[in-house]
This record gives sequence, structure tokens and C-alpha cells, in this order.
Amino acid sequence: MTDSSTQANGLQNPAHVPDGLPASIRHYIDGEFVDSIDGDTFDVLDPVTNQTYVTAAAGKKADVVRAVASARRAFVDGPWPRMLPRERSRVLHSIADIVESRDARLAELESFDSGLPITQALGQARRAAENFRFFADLIVAQSDDAFKVPGRQLNYVNRTPIGVAGLITPWNTPFMLESWKLGPALATGNTVVLKPAEFTPLSASLWAGIFEEVGLPSGVFNLVNGLGEEAGDALVKHPDVPLISFTGESSTGQLIFGNAAPYLKGLSMELGGKSPAVVFADADLGAAIDATIFGVFSLNGERCTAGSRILVERPVYDEFVERYAAQAKRVRVGYPHDESTEVGALVHPEHFAKVMGYVELGKTEGRLVAGGGRPEGFDTGNFIAPTVFADVKADARIFQEEIFGPVVAITPFDTDEEALALANGVKYGLAAYVWTNDLKRAHTFAQAIEAGMVWLNSNNVRDLRTPFGGVKASGLGHEGGYRSIDFYTHQQAVHITLGPTPNPTFGKQRS
Ligand code: NAD
Repeated sequence: MTDSSTQANGLQNPAHVPDGLPASIRHYIDGEFVDSIDGDTFDVLDPVTNQTYVTAAAGKKADVVRAVASARRAFVDGPWPRMLPRERSRVLHSIADIVESRDARLAELESFDSGLPITQALGQARRAAENFRFFADLIVAQSDDAFKVPGRQLNYVNRTPIGVAGLITPWNTPFMLESWKLGPALATGNTVVLKPAEFTPLSASLWAGIFEEVGLPSGVFNLVNGLGEEAGDALVKHPDVPLISFTGESSTGQLIFGNAAPYLKGLSMELGGKSPAVVFADADLGAAIDATIFGVFSLNGERCTAGSRILVERPVYDEFVERYAAQAKRVRVGYPHDESTEVGALVHPEHFAKVMGYVELGKTEGRLVAGGGRPEGFDTGNFIAPTVFADVKADARIFQEEIFGPVVAITPFDTDEEALALANGVKYGLAAYVWTNDLKRAHTFAQAIEAGMVWLNSNNVRDLRTPFGGVKASGLGHEGGYRSIDFYTHQQAVHITLGPTPNPTFGKQRS
């Protein structure tokens, strides 16, 4: 690393550049690193300086066609789909071992490329390892149904991998989100083409080396970098890709849904969110404030399950807003590689401009009580101070629209009914957080919220066995635990007759 000395203002020098960055980022197809067929590339910026630090191959339809052909060959002729679950499980455990053993390096690269605080990038690298380990365990524990009709029939489920899975991922926590798809897709014996987000291609380029080290057969994993409208689009429209697992914005999900329709593909869609955190007056206010600060400012607020709308019951509203704003002002914005940083740099200047637009809009839609622009001492780079708006009305755009940055709207309510109407009054339905010590209210409220996942008196702590997915504009289908296995496999029903064949005889010879 270079230049990470402390400056006069006490902050670490922003010009931290990890050692050993690649000279360029290439595709990985059929076991080889390759450039785009037309030689095209795109620039990749680091979010602290917004300078181009590397160029990446810009994949087009022809590159996707090549990658899918490789994945298809590996599926049709290769050993991977035919290996015993235990054999694939061993490979996945080895991947997890390597990711774990290189967590610090992965975190350093991810933090540099995405602007995520280094400590949080480290947590995400470990989670990526855990995703592989989890699916390695699950695939050997997997059992399938068999049904007996006594004396007459036996029916069983013949579970098989589907083919080439197209995996399209976003730029927030890129490595971890890729593992979330790669783990189950590979565990079940599919082959894959991964199209990572164009803002953050660095960590995705590391998978190829890791997979080679553990002996994943060539062609099982293929990577095509490039823009969504080009490489992503070609993957969605390729007839030999029967599955698309997509994580990204709801509007992109809608487009992909339409583009995949003529091919009747299997789709799993993890989309945007505008999740409510509902704080009742009887809640443990200290715990609720800690959790809701973490819930929207961790991962720079670039988190699909961020609790970006906080609804607070009137008797504790003023106290909550005052304490929340005071604590938000203490959240430490810093350079991504600095271990004391709690909020780093947003991923890209385009995204920074979008979030800043919402910060300015918020000043006309709510009462600014913390943040509101660049933090002091950060005149360049994609830094935004944790920003809190109080008294935000339900029809405000900052209440309705996903901002995906360190910006939160706080709104008071008087009754449970009003809280529920506010919570459900947006197009999204990904996560919800409820804070109350009243057991009956907690469960009644949780079950009435339109959200794929609800946490009671907790921030977002996920058990990998539980379903993950959103309702309304937040997604289609569920992944997580056995549901991911279901998405990536066919379940063929095989029926066998026992005893006499129970045929009705048509065309019977009449005597
Ligand atoms: P995005 O939709 O812009 O891009 C996601 C991916 O789709 C990228 O790889 C992009 O290149 C690709 N893409 C874009 N257009 C495409 C097209 N026409 N065809 C095929 N692929 C295309 O999303 P983003 O800005 O990268 O990520 C942020 C969004 O992701 C937020 O809305 C966030 O809530 C969501 N997200 C959801 C979850 C979840 O699990 N629900 C998790 C993380 C992020």
C-alpha cells in the first residue's frame, strides 16, 4: 500500500492504493482470461479520488455468446453436474477456506473499489465465505421427497441442475452478493456466467483465481464484465440461459422480466427497498436508536434492507429525533481504508450526484436535523455526511423513493393503524423493523406489514436458512436456504406402479 500516513487534520491520507492492483480487468471464459472480442474497455474509478485506476473489458453480445457456449459445454459434457454432492461440497468448502484465509486482502480491494469502510468490507468477505460453506453443507444434507401409495405406487423427486445460470449482480457489497448466487448455483451442479456491476468489477475478478486453485473444472465459472444494457442484456436474452438470478434496482428488474418473457426463463429478483423501522413508545429507545442508526448508515446506506424510514410514536418522537440527530452527527465519516471509519465514500460520482439530489430535495420536504451535504474536511470524493430529516410527510419523495445512501426520513405517528398505513404506504416491501416490548403488538404488527422480512427488536441479523426476498416492487421469489436450492434445480416427479398396472383399457377387443 502507498501513502496511508496521517494528515494534519488527523484523517488518514486519502491516497491509499492497495499494492498489486491488476493492470486491467478481463473476462474469464472457459478457463482463460480474455479481452472483449472487439477490444472495447470501460473505465473503473476509485470513489475517493474519482480517478480511473484500471480499465475493464466491456463485454458485448459476442462475448456473452462465447461465455454461454463455454458454460453450456461444461454443463453438457463436463463432470461438474454429474459429481456427487459430497464431491462438489468439498470444492465449495475449499473455496470458503481460501476466501476466509484472504479476508483482509479481499476487504482491502473491495473497500478501495466500492468505498465501503474497511471493517465492514471485512465482514462482507467473511460472509461470502460463509455463504459457500453454508451451501456446501446444505447440498449434502439435502433430502428429497418420496411418496408411497401402499401396494400401488411409489413416487419420488429426481432433483437435477437446470443448466447455465446467468447471475447479474449490483455494486453494493459486490463480492458477498456474488457469493450469494455462486454458492447455491454451483452447489447444485449448474454452470454459470456472472455479470458483475460495472462500477465495481475488481473483487469479481478474483473468483477465477480462487476457483482455479480449488480445481473447479474449466467452463463451470465464466465471467463477463460490461455494461448492463450490453453484457447484462445479452445474458438475459440468450436462449441457452434458462435461469437468471438478478439483484439490482426494481426498474432494471422490470426490464429484465420483460426481456426474459419470450424465453420463459426462471427468474429470481432481489430488488430495491424503502424499509420502515417502526418505534413504539414502549420500546427500549437506546437499543432502537443504535439499531436504526446502524440500519441506515452501515454500508454507506447503500444497503437494500436499509431502514431508511423511521416511524416513531408521538409520545417519544421529540426525544427520539433529538437523540437520533445527536448520534448521527457523531457517526464517523472517513476514508474507506481507515479502520475507524463508519461511513466511507459512495461508490461512484453518478450515484453521489443522485444521493446529493435527494439531500437537497429533503431540505424542502422535511426538517434537516443532521448532515445535509459534504462532511467538513472532504471537499472531493463521494463523501456525504449522515443526513437526517424529521417531520417527513408520507407523500414526500424522500419518504417514497429509494435513495440508497446515508439519508433517513423520520415521521411521527399516533396509532398502530396509522403506523401500519405509513409502513405499507410505499411501492416497496423488502424488510421492516419493529421496536416494542409488547409481545402481542409486535407479532400482530409484524404479520400485517407488507415486507418479505421483519425483524423484531433487532437490526438486520440474518440466519442463512431463512427465506430472503421482497414483496411488491422489492422482488419476485425467495432465495435463502433450501429455497435457493429449489431455484437452481428441476424437481422431476417420477412415478412407478407397484403390483398390477392400473390401466383403463381403451380400444378393448370385444368378443
Ligand atoms: P442496477 O439495477 O442498476 O444494476 C444491477 C446489475 O444489473 C448490474 O450488473 C447492471 O450492469 C445490470 N443491468 C443493468 N441494466 C441491465 C439490463 N437492461 N439487462 C441486464 N442487466 C442489466 O442496480 P445497482 O445500482 O447496481 O444496485 C443497487 C440496487 O440494487 C438498489 O436498488 C438496491 O436496493 C438493489 N439491491 C437489492 C438487494 C436485494 O437483495 N433485494 C440487494 C442489494 C441491492
